[in-house]
Amino acid sequence: TDVDPLNLLAITVAGEAAPVLHLGGGLPDDLFEHDGQITKREIRALTLSALAPRRGECLWDIGAGAGSVAIEWLLADASLAAIAIEAVPERAARIGRNAAALGVPHLRIVSGAAPAALVGLPPPDAVFVGGGGGEEGVLEAAIFDLKPGGRLVANAVTLETEARLLDLHAKHGGDLLRVALGRAVPVKGMTGWRPAMPITQWVWHK
Ligand code: SAH
Repeated sequence: TDVDPLNLLAITVAGEAAPVLHLGGGLPDDLFEHDGQITKREIRALTLSALAPRRGECLWDIGAGAGSVAIEWLLADASLAAIAIEAVPERAARIGRNAAALGVPHLRIVSGAAPAALVGLPPPDAVFVGGGGGEEGVLEAAIFDLKPGGRLVANAVTLETEARLLDLHAKHGGDLLRVALGRAVPVKGMTGWRPAMPITQWVWHK
């Protein structure tokens, strides 16, 4: 594609300006085709900050869903590489469409379940575990395969996955973060906070 996604304002679709991909990170969820399984904008911004991309690095996005984290990682700099690993074939196909639409067709997509699907992939400088963290061997493989100096970021929504993160934190150290977002919504002509499910994030540097 010869479209520069950072300058889409110049392109008009049906007379309307196409969305601009701002440079700040944490792109709107609506820019991605998704089925609800997507790391929401604010959590994604925190996640990318913790993944801390540096020039030339490679990310593994395990349980990539719609691919939003890997895609934003690639948008940060042309020198970056990323591999999206996704167990559900329909979602893996969707990741490919999102990557093409957002100008990062070089995203490598592995359709398969971790940890088996990780075998033989080039070692990562950063790993995000957005899905599969509750499954046997996934976090262990990420810890083992990560290059020295690399960052591992795992997000848990369920108590089961959170329990695994607490265990790994006790064993390996790192940082635990709990994020409980609320958004103001209309309530009978007034406004109230609607809480999102809290997430637990474990960040570990190898
Ligand atoms: N970060 C993603 C959303 C992740 S949702 C985004 O922003 O788009 C979690 C995903 O993990 C789901 O799509 C699910 O199919 C996938 N998943 C769960 N277990 C997995 C495993 N063992 N290997 C690969 N993918 C897995």
